[in-house]
Amino acid sequence: MEPTAQLAPGVEQSTVGDNTNVLTEEDVYCPACGYNLRALVSDRCPECALDVAFIKSAESLLPWVHRARVGRLRAYLVTVWMVVFRTQRFCLEMSRPVGERDARAFRRITVLLAFLPFPLLTLALAMLRPDGFDAVLHFGGPGYLAVMHAAVLAAILSVTGVPYYVIRHKEVDLARQLRAAALSLYCCAPLSIMGAAVVFAVGGVAASRLANRDWDLALYSVALGIFVVLMVIVLFDVQRVIWWMLRETGSALAVNVKLCLFWCLSVFLSLVAFPAAAAYGVILYYSLRA
Ligand SMILES: [Zn+2]
Repeated sequence: MEPTAQLAPGVEQSTVGDNTNVLTEEDVYCPACGYNLRALVSDRCPECALDVAFIKSAESLLPWVHRARVGRLRAYLVTVWMVVFRTQRFCLEMSRPVGERDARAFRRITVLLAFLPFPLLTLALAMLRPDGFDAVLHFGGPGYLAVMHAAVLAAILSVTGVPYYVIRHKEVDLARQLRAAALSLYCCAPLSIMGAAVVFAVGGVAASRLANRDWDLALYSVALGIFVVLMVIVLFDVQRVIWWMLRETGSALAVNVKLCLFWCLSVFLSLVAFPAAAAYGVILYYSLRA
């Protein structure tokens, strides 16, 4: 038999036998059925009888939230680990308040870590293959290089930012929608390892000086493989967040269609339309000068 759930509305803290339940001022939801566990004096959800002792505190278990105490680097690394390898525990955070400012700070750092390897790759190209670098410069000048880097940055910002605006569903409680949206900002965590892909790409650039072209192709392939795997993990994490948000509501089709559309559109705008517009502007400028 499941213990009978007891509700004590308005009570700050209460004790049942040996079990002290600290009740929260915040709305904390049952991860299985979405029942509001605020002021609950039992370890069982009254709606579905799930053992909710682990979720009843409103204090976040996301390591990044506790970075002031555990240190930024450690908090960041453990959060990346949690998002990538402990996805279910990460998604359970939807049951309690998710700090949006923390999530945005985490995303800013991740975007930076994902982007910085690209200028370093360009630098490596300039140093290891000056002939290739000069060819790129002759093609469009330094402005072309700057635009390409801006395009990559815009693409990273789009991919990591779009889910925040798309993860909405009118049948889901607004607080839960906002928590899911804030959690989606953490889903970019795998991109922090982008440097690994770029290390192999730099290796490929270095190996392209060799007479045997097998090595550079192999290294480029590994770089591409790592990039694809990281992107797949991001997609998987966002999917999990959507699934958890819609657990009681059902179909995620509408959200997913919207997500795919906006992702494709934003990547197209970043990597194709924006550089094309820049090139068009340059052509107009030179046509006027001539
Ligand atoms: Zn429940």
